[in-house]
Amino acid sequence: MLKVYNTKTRRKEEFKPVVDGHVGMYVCGPTVYGPPHLGHAKSYIAFDIIHRYFNFLGYKVKYVQNITDVGHLVGDGDEGEDKISRQAKLEKLDPYQIAYKYECEYFDAMDALNILRPSISARATGFIIDIIEAVKEIIDKGYGYVTKEGNVYFDVHKYHKYGQLSNRRLDGNVSGERIEIASDKRHAEDFALWKAVSENTLMKWQSPWGWGCPGWHIECSVLGRKFLGEKFDIHGGGIDNLFPHHECECAQGDVLTGDVPMNYFLHNNLVTVNGTKMGKSLGNSMTLSGLFTKYGPITIRFFVLQFHYRSVIDFSDEAISSAQKQLNKIGEFVLSVERLAKEERNPTGDLADIYKACLEAMDDDFNTPVLLAEVLKLVKVGSGYVKEENKEKAQELLYIINKVVYDIMGLKFAAEKENAEEVISEEVKALAKARWQAKKNKDFVKADEIREKLSCLGYDIKDTKDGYDLIKK
Ligand SMILES: [Zn+2]
Repeated sequence: MLKVYNTKTRRKEEFKPVVDGHVGMYVCGPTVYGPPHLGHAKSYIAFDIIHRYFNFLGYKVKYVQNITDVGHLVGDGDEGEDKISRQAKLEKLDPYQIAYKYECEYFDAMDALNILRPSISARATGFIIDIIEAVKEIIDKGYGYVTKEGNVYFDVHKYHKYGQLSNRRLDGNVSGERIEIASDKRHAEDFALWKAVSENTLMKWQSPWGWGCPGWHIECSVLGRKFLGEKFDIHGGGIDNLFPHHECECAQGDVLTGDVPMNYFLHNNLVTVNGTKMGKSLGNSMTLSGLFTKYGPITIRFFVLQFHYRSVIDFSDEAISSAQKQLNKIGEFVLSVERLAKEERNPTGDLADIYKACLEAMDDDFNTPVLLAEVLKLVKVGSGYVKEENKEKAQELLYIINKVVYDIMGLKFAAEKENAEEVISEEVKALAKARWQAKKNKDFVKADEIREKLSCLGYDIKDTKDGYDLIKK
């Protein structure tokens, strides 16, 4: 029986889908104004594991993610510049270029991490008409008001359940302590549904209230309802979005549909770096492209899986090195099993027990650290069978590896199949490219580091007149 921790009730609950055999899942996507970083990896790996486990259990999953390509302000209040417009000025590009550039980078990074793509990826800018309709509906129902500046706000004092998700009360302080309050709001806590922009802004749409763009919170309510219906199973996101973003979504959804639309709210925790909160302003936001060059994307994935999604991850070089060692150990074991067994067989005896324990770990709110402990047990027990060349047991091991290590954990190994010479993994290719770049930049220390890493992954690299060759060892 699958149990999930529901932020709405603050306890683990049995998972019961709205429609038998189906899962509707919405996860807040990225605001595309900068390169993807470790926080994105943590969040989207967490929901990838959940996505993969529902697939494994045989559910038909509809997984929706939005791309915030407009309207997310620098602060959580309703003051300040749009994050995308601000970046556009910095890079001297237009906001549409910025959004598309970083959306591409986001998907490249997620693909490298072996994160399955959502069933639907929806850009907010593609659904402005739906958003305007929803804002009109909220106004008509008496929960939204228009100001003479052309802004539309949600009146949280009219909605008595505001604070239901985050357990905050309206005390005049909820819109955030350090954030300036827009002057045309009735109450400090009200949040923007629609924001007026000047006519010379590039990202703007005509609305009943004049030129403007949507507030951030409304896009998730609109896209969730559009693709998953008025009632759906899971809404996921980072714990940092619990308030105000998800609180606002509950309020909007309730007003629009007559009930809070999501049955389970799942929140992943954050990443710290050497014990410090990660953030762009702190200069330690750890871009994924940098981390991939240094460690490889699957090592990052494995590192994240060592922790429960509701735990904080503290990133350090030591922690990731030890993750890398463990991953290599599992990789060697998997390859040794794959050499011995070509077909699968249902596990029996001791291996059946380990397999069962793996699934029990996942059933317990997707407990990946416990799952990993079971996988390490599998490596220990299984290595004995491999040593004695027990073909039957190797086939049972192969069954568990395919289900648990590949399908659920989403791990990949450099030479996962015997024909690996023909199929060089994306990870290896990316490393080889990064080494070439480092050489061109005369950063020979880095180039050597990457050569070492490639060697660990089973590849030698040979420089040629106009490039390099990767040679399988
Ligand atoms: Zn959202």
